[in-house]
Amino acid sequence: KPVIGVLALQGDVREHAALLERAGAEPRPVRRPGELDGLHGLVLPGGESTTMSRLLETFELLEPLRGRIAGGLPVYGSCAGMILLARQVLDGRPDQRQLDGLDVIVRRNAFGRQVDSFEADLDFAGLEGPAVHAVFIRAPWVEKAGDGVEILARVPDAAGAGDAAARIVAIRQGPVLATAFHPELTGDERVHQLFVRMVRDA
Ligand code: GLN
Repeated sequence: KPVIGVLALQGDVREHAALLERAGAEPRPVRRPGELDGLHGLVLPGGESTTMSRLLETFELLEPLRGRIAGGLPVYGSCAGMILLARQVLDGRPDQRQLDGLDVIVRRNAFGRQVDSFEADLDFAGLEGPAVHAVFIRAPWVEKAGDGVEILARVPDAAGAGDAAARIVAIRQGPVLATAFHPELTGDERVHQLFVRMVRDA
């Protein structure tokens, strides 16, 4: 079984761990640098990216984690996790630090100007079965993606999303996966299954 860490500084750690287990992985909470050892993959849950960035520094996890990601560790970031993985953040705090795992610019709280949270059914490239029912909570969107970034899902027009329609909300770049929404809240395990497959293939 692949051992997949869940960054446990903040956010919906338990829900991610439950879905990883159902997807055939062995989840392990990560709070200390030493707990990065022996991981085959890592999940960065949603929460508050500015707080998580500060906690990563306090717990001396920021640099080791950047190093592991640069070295090819498969990582999945949801919402605040997507923000942390981006190389650049718009509307972030000045002291917010990045893990540089994705060649993207994300806009923080992007949908918040219209609605704080909403739900939408997404066509998600590579996932079988019905549309993915996605829950967005003060979510970011991907404002700009580099050439090496695969776009997996966008907000559909049908969601009544107005200006937010067609915004990029799920991406993959090599072993790094990110969604602006929270599959751990709906219990749809397909995104976690995709990530576990990525970890096995890595
Ligand atoms: N708005 C949050 C941030 O800036 C992300 C919200 C979430 O993870 N649900 O980090």
